[in-house]
Amino acid sequence: MKILIVEDEKRLADALVQIFTKNRMIAEASYNGSDGLDNALSGIYDVIVLDIMLPGMNGIEVLGELRKEGIKTPVILLTAKDEIADKVKGLDSGADDYLTKPFATEELLARVRALGRRSASELICDDTLSFSDLSLDLSTYTLSCGSNSVKLGLKEFSIMEILLRGGSRVLTKENLLVKIWGYESDAEYNNVEVYISFLRKKLGYIKSGVQIKTLRGVGYSLETK
Ligand code: CA
Repeated sequence: MKILIVEDEKRLADALVQIFTKNRMIAEASYNGSDGLDNALSGIYDVIVLDIMLPGMNGIEVLGELRKEGIKTPVILLTAKDEIADKVKGLDSGADDYLTKPFATEELLARVRALGRRSASELICDDTLSFSDLSLDLSTYTLSCGSNSVKLGLKEFSIMEILLRGGSRVLTKENLLVKIWGYESDAEYNNVEVYISFLRKKLGYIKSGVQIKTLRGVGYSLETK
């Protein structure tokens, strides 16, 4: 899962990025409303954590613009205790959930997971994603086929998760690159190819009938042999 945090308190934003990363999600932070909006408009995130009180463009305005542009990414608004009116306005303008500061990180994680699950409702059963004979345990990074299983590294796991959520839909290399490495990274298509080859070896190792098909010049999809 890929999370965008829009929060001008840099220390809080960076702490949240760390917490999400520790919990096997990919997280990025924007420190003001207009940067947050630019990033969110890419549509590559699964959940957006959006602070209401931001310098310049506030969270409600960011949310309004996003929904106006047709971006339906689930949004959790962060509100301060005395912002009840904003909370109502936020829910009216298309927020999916809100959390009052200060909050317990466990609470935020639980809500982000719930929204992420809702946005990827297909194929998901508890904390497992499956496709044909394959299943991926989202809490242990384990990819299984029958009684065979193998642990995945973080990047392998993230790519497999995206492939499984996509099923037989084609995923472009560009989309994978941006989702896994982010816009700012120097990673290139090569990196994607390297991890795809690792995953192919692991699929062979667990004797799965699923393979990662390459569509030359386009990207990848899962296919049953
Ligand atoms: Ca703030």
